[in-house]
Amino acid sequence: MVKSETSVWDDCLDFIRGQVGDQSFRTWFEPIRPLSLNQETLTIQVPSQFFYEYLEEHYVHLLRQCIQNQLGPGGKLEYSVIVDSGSMQNQAYSVTLPNQRQHKNNSWDNANGKQEVVNPFEMPSLDKNSRYSNLNPNYSFDNYIEGDCNRLARSAGIAVAEKPGITSFNPLMIYGGVGLGKTHLVQAIGNKVSEATSGNFVLYVSSEKFTTQFTDAIKNNSIQSFTNYYLQVDTLIIDDVQFFSGKEKTQEMFFHIFNHLHQNGKQIIMSSDRAPRDLKGLQDRLLSRFKWGLTADLQMPDFETRMAIIMRKMQSDGIYIPDDVVEYLAYSVDTNVRELEGVLISLIAHATLNKTDINLELAKQTLKNIVHDIESEVGVDYIQKTVGEYFQISVEDLKDKTRKKEIVIARQVAMYLCKEYTNHSLKSIGYHFGGRDHSTVIHAVQSVSDMMDIDQKFGQAIEELKKKMKMKMV
Ligand code: ADP
Ligand code: MG
Repeated sequence: MVKSETSVWDDCLDFIRGQVGDQSFRTWFEPIRPLSLNQETLTIQVPSQFFYEYLEEHYVHLLRQCIQNQLGPGGKLEYSVIVDSGSMQNQAYSVTLPNQRQHKNNSWDNANGKQEVVNPFEMPSLDKNSRYSNLNPNYSFDNYIEGDCNRLARSAGIAVAEKPGITSFNPLMIYGGVGLGKTHLVQAIGNKVSEATSGNFVLYVSSEKFTTQFTDAIKNNSIQSFTNYYLQVDTLIIDDVQFFSGKEKTQEMFFHIFNHLHQNGKQIIMSSDRAPRDLKGLQDRLLSRFKWGLTADLQMPDFETRMAIIMRKMQSDGIYIPDDVVEYLAYSVDTNVRELEGVLISLIAHATLNKTDINLELAKQTLKNIVHDIESEVGVDYIQKTVGEYFQISVEDLKDKTRKKEIVIARQVAMYLCKEYTNHSLKSIGYHFGGRDHSTVIHAVQSVSDMMDIDQKFGQAIEELKKKMKMKMV
């Protein structure tokens, strides 16, 4: 009797059914369709790349065994993978069995009962088996101020929180520099999911913590328990994935957990301090996963958003700060939100200690101490002082309205250096030069660059000043 692909595959399924749990059988084998049988090669269609990799990782031995039972020792299996777009554009991956990949007894999927699951978060007050979310209720969407800097990330976050695992934002990847609100946002998502759906097991974990837990699990021979814990999660939030760079084994483990959860319609949310394309030391297959969902970035909030953040913070702390101080802080601190909050806290602390009101004078004083750290060594003050000395002009004149030619040039040079050597925005630079407009700063920067090209002596002067900046920085 000539065998058909259907009869061969049906027989394989009978065999497989006896070897794996019900759940696994339904998840991983029922969706497979036999496509063709060509001599000793059976081609099966799998719904996604995930599927293909999962089968290869977990069931390679089983598949090999049943194919060889059916087709003899030369029996081969090929996969036809439906490409992710959902269109029926098939792309065949030829995989010849026996396969090189060796997998030790992998019992991940023996999901029914009897699993050892121990909470890997060692919290003294925690029951060993309890589900621990690691969420901080202080992070919410309510107190996450919206601005151009975060609009996409924030609204994607809300969408995900309302329908975890269901939107196409899966995984949701948030990236942005230090202190720009990644942790706040991903935690806010977690909190919202928890509130809305009580049965949804949300887990927030930093990549660092995940790595430690994984290493401990290896040491203690408890990988299975570690994995089982993570596989129960419905909404997994992994903060700062850049920390996985270069940690191959941890990435491997995360990859499996990721695949498993994603395949089962669970939501994954990640953050990173840089764009996925700049994540060095991360395996390509992991990176390609990140691109499946949505990647959204966080930028430094603009001036108005910073004002709103300060005011919101004051409101929640029940503190009053005069408008001019709010404005001054928002102008002066344009590195990141964490620093902005730090300055605010210092200011409040100073006022409390000295039993004074918060006013512009105190704000300036407080900022002086802190800004020094913020700006490393080269700050606006230093640049103004250095340029003033170089051109023999007072700092006051640099900030003043004077339109005398020498002063205008020195002022432009100072602005240019501020642009080069500090993190201040154009707006903030303008502010430090007597409240000038940001377009004045753009003009200054442009004029200085032009002049350096045409006037050699001027170019040398700038180089000399730059040397001073660099010397100060080391
Ligand atoms: P990251 O994880 O990116 O380093 P965080 O989430 O820890 O940054 O944010 C630093 C601080 O700034 C936190 O206290 C956070 O609440 C606050 N913050 C950041 N962005 C906003 C925002 N848009 N609105 C209100 N607070 C913010
Ligand atoms: Mg963070």
